[in-house]
Amino acid sequence: MILVVGGAGYIGSHLVKELVETKEVVVLDNLSTGHRWAVDERAVFVEGDLGNAADLEKVFSAYNIEAVMHFAANSLVGESVVDPLKYYQNNVAATLTLLQMMMKHDVKKFIFSSTAATYGIPDVDLITEDTATNPINPYGRSKLMIEHILADFSKAYGLNYVVLRYFNAAGAHVSAEIGEKHDPETHLIPIILQHLLGEREHIAVFGSDYDTPDGTCIRDYIHVTDLAKAHIFGVEALLAGTKETATYNLGNGLGYSVKEVIDTCEKVTGKKANVVMSDRREGDPARLVASSSKIHEELGWKAEYSLEEIISSAWKWHQQSK
Ligand code: UDP
Repeated sequence: MILVVGGAGYIGSHLVKELVETKEVVVLDNLSTGHRWAVDERAVFVEGDLGNAADLEKVFSAYNIEAVMHFAANSLVGESVVDPLKYYQNNVAATLTLLQMMMKHDVKKFIFSSTAATYGIPDVDLITEDTATNPINPYGRSKLMIEHILADFSKAYGLNYVVLRYFNAAGAHVSAEIGEKHDPETHLIPIILQHLLGEREHIAVFGSDYDTPDGTCIRDYIHVTDLAKAHIFGVEALLAGTKETATYNLGNGLGYSVKEVIDTCEKVTGKKANVVMSDRREGDPARLVASSSKIHEELGWKAEYSLEEIISSAWKWHQQSK
C-alpha cells in the first residue's frame, strides 16, 4: 500500500487518480485546503493531520505501507513572507513528525514535493539540479530544509527518497472531474480563466518592467497529470531499488511570459481579456525555466502537454466547476 499524504489537494488528487490504476492507495489529508470530492473513490481516505503523531500512528499500524508520497504543504510565496511560522510549522515540523513515524515503522521510501522556489533568483536561463539553491522566501526555505533533512536521514537511517522540484503546475484532469480549486486563488492561469468566465473584472499583470523580452515574468508551466506521472516513475524506481536517492526538476523546459499565457488563454477560449498593468509582486524572480533532462535520462519521464493543452484542460474544468 502507498500512503499519499495530502492526496485531496490539487496535485495530490491528480497523482492518486493515476496511482490507483496500479497500486493500493491510502490518502491522509486534513482537508484544510484539499477537497474530499477530489479523492478517487478507489483510494482509502483517512481524515487526519500529518503533524499529529496519533493520526499517523493509526494509519501506519492499520496498513502495510511500502512508500510514502508527501504533498501536504502550504505553497504560497507571499503568504510565507507574512506568516513564516505557518510555513515552518506545517512544511518543516509536521514533515519531521511524518518522517519520524516512517522510521519508527521501518518505512524507508519517500517521494517529496519540492519546488523551483528552492533556487531563488538563478543566474542561468535553464535551471538544472546542479544550479545553486538560494531560496529568497520562507516557502522555498521550508522545502529546502526538508531536502537537507532527507539527505541526512538517508545517510543515518538508510532512507531512500526522490525529491521532485515542481515548476508551475497547471491544467486539470482530462476527465474534468478534478482540477485546480484554491480559495483564495492566486495562480495565473485559473485567475485568467475565472476572469474570462466573468468571475473577475480584470487580470492584473504583476510587473511589466522585468528584464525579459516583453517585460513580464517568464515561467515554465507543466500539466498536473505530467507531474503526477513523474511521481509514478519515482516511486517505481524506489520500489524496484533502481534508485536510492535522487532530486529532479519537473518542467516543460519552455518558458512563457505572463503576456504569452494571457494570449494563449484568449486563443483557447476565443474571449478577450481586460488586462491591467500593475506593480511587481514581492519575491517574483524574472525567469524560472527548468531543464528536466535528468529525469528524462534516468527514469524516462518527459512532459507531454503543451501550454495550449494545459489551458484547454483547465478551461474545460473551470467551465463545468463554475
Ligand atoms: N501573475 C500575474 N497576475 C496574477 C497572478 C500571477 O501577473 O494575477 C504572475 C506572477 O507574478 C508570476 C506568474 O504570473 O510571474 C505566475 O504566478 P503564479 O502565482 O501562477 O505562480 P508562481 O510562479 O508564483 O508559483
